[in-house]
Amino acid sequence: MGDVRTAVVTGAASGIGAAVAARLAADGLRVVAADIDVEGAGRVAEALPGDLRARRVDVTDGDSIAALRADVHASVGVPRVLVNCAGWDEFGMFADTDRAFWEKVVAINYLGVVAMTHAFLPDLTGGGDGTEPRVVNIASDAGRGGSMGETVYAGAKGGVIAFTKSLAREAARDGVTANAVCPGPTDTPLFEGFPDKIRGALVKAIPLRRLADPADIAHAVSFFVSPGASYVTGQVLSVSGGLTMNG
Ligand code: NAD
Repeated sequence: MGDVRTAVVTGAASGIGAAVAARLAADGLRVVAADIDVEGAGRVAEALPGDLRARRVDVTDGDSIAALRADVHASVGVPRVLVNCAGWDEFGMFADTDRAFWEKVVAINYLGVVAMTHAFLPDLTGGGDGTEPRVVNIASDAGRGGSMGETVYAGAKGGVIAFTKSLAREAARDGVTANAVCPGPTDTPLFEGFPDKIRGALVKAIPLRRLADPADIAHAVSFFVSPGASYVTGQVLSVSGGLTMNG
């Protein structure tokens, strides 16, 4: 094993991102917990054991991403792992949405992943000792099977999946793996915003009869980041209690 790897995790102030930050820190990585809500990221970093540092980033803003990268280089070191977890949506029928909403959904959920990856890709080099550089993108089962009331978000997440696969093909020559994790309905503040009726119906439809805990999703991220996963790239793993079973 080489030196301690640094992972940048976006969306780390809440829900799945906070669980990913906790899990990667427990796995022995140094974690930059990055979020537009830097106070929340700070609370997460303080509450957890391990080497975690909170930083602000707005994934929709190129200058903010460049500032994060410069700060991480100066204060933490060159990262070897990027987990794009920041995301946002509001439940609503597509017919009732407007262009401002579409643009916000795509800016955060799709272009945020694209811009973070583009900025940090030059850092993701080296490896060969079980610490190959990694990109893990948090997509959604909405992007595989569709999801009522999340139509534009589902399109953005489908984009994240296709982006991840194409990136995996391009970056393989540099030893970088890129994989996507697709959570099913997960017990986080984002999902709390859904109508009770929809949430209840989803839980009933899940074969394992419960929502995902954010730690369930973090476990899948930990696998893709682990040294043993160095031969796994361009893959999409649903963590959904069996709600979706993709061929
Ligand atoms: P959450 O709302 O609990 O956390 C999302 C985090 O992203 C927040 O801390 C928020 O501040 C941050 N964020 C939002 N916009 C940002 C921006 N512009 N720049 C930086 N950070 C920003 O949501 P969650 O449920 O933990 O979602 C995490 C990821 O998992 C998202 O990509 C989401 O789409 C995906 N997901 C969630 C579910 C679910 O059921 N909760 C299901 C499938 C996929």
